[in-house]
Amino acid sequence: MSASTTTATARTDAALNLLREAAALAPAVFSTSFGAEDMVVLDLIARHRLPIGIFTLDTGRLPEETHALMQQVRERYGTALGGRDGAGAAFDTLFPDARALQDLVARNGSNGFYASIEQRKACCAVRKVEPLERGLRGRRAWVTGLRAQQSATRAALAPRQIDGARGLTKFNPLHDWSEADVWDYLRAHAVPYNVLHDRHYPSIGCAPCTRAIAVGEDLRAGRWWWENADTKECGLHPVAGRPGNTTDGASAGASASASTDASVDASVDASARTSAAAAGSAGAATVRAAAGSAAPAAGGIAAAAAPVIAIREIP
Ligand code: SF4
Repeated sequence: MSASTTTATARTDAALNLLREAAALAPAVFSTSFGAEDMVVLDLIARHRLPIGIFTLDTGRLPEETHALMQQVRERYGTALGGRDGAGAAFDTLFPDARALQDLVARNGSNGFYASIEQRKACCAVRKVEPLERGLRGRRAWVTGLRAQQSATRAALAPRQIDGARGLTKFNPLHDWSEADVWDYLRAHAVPYNVLHDRHYPSIGCAPCTRAIAVGEDLRAGRWWWENADTKECGLHPVAGRPGNTTDGASAGASASASTDASVDASVDASARTSAAAAGSAGAATVRAAAGSAAPAAGGIAAAAAPVIAIREIP
């Protein structure tokens, strides 16, 4: 066995041990958005038949590519993960509260999230946070696919965290994995993944709030790219070091708010960005940023159809 294979095996075993620990703290649940990391975790849960529930949040604004993957997951893993909802589905799908959503759109419009951080957070609260709370209710362990290297806001990520606000233990089995480790696993096990990753979307959320990134940008620079780095979480994952949250491996004082991530100072020198794909991404085509094009609309899902992305600051 080669050294790299041994390392990969040790890494996978460590992640599995954390998953088993989470499962032992029953009831445990894994929340997935079907990103590359989440597909690793989902595959491990299915492959090892771990007693961990799985749910996803359908915000109503997801890219079609995410829905296509959801269907694929259902077909591939339905047998291994089936029976969780009594219908043989691989996972549960949670939707926003219909009345709250209706009120939100009446108040702010369909795309109010571009107008201010407050409106963006209000949208995330209705479409993501409240359904998440429903999914976590009554659980003692919460499994995520978070990695420390994903962004400045996650740099202090530990393998286990006490989520004081929700009264449960959060497990991050991939906390110390690199992006390359993730893709090595997906390739080695032929795990399906979101095709948007091949179009330079390392982090995928709702279609209107996600764009492709250019070379050298932070992996989460394509999420809410018109905001500053320290606001770029949707409320699903409280930042370690903030009230109520503790970690068992990282300094709680390492607040992400200290970040000075220049990558989200969204006005990009587009002409300078003419090289290859983000490191570790499954596809490797050329990313070119078209200076002067309109944003944010051009940065959303429409940009995925062509390898030309537009990045400009929102007024
Ligand atoms: S990511 Fe965008 S569309 Fe999705 S819930 Fe948050 S603000 Fe709304």
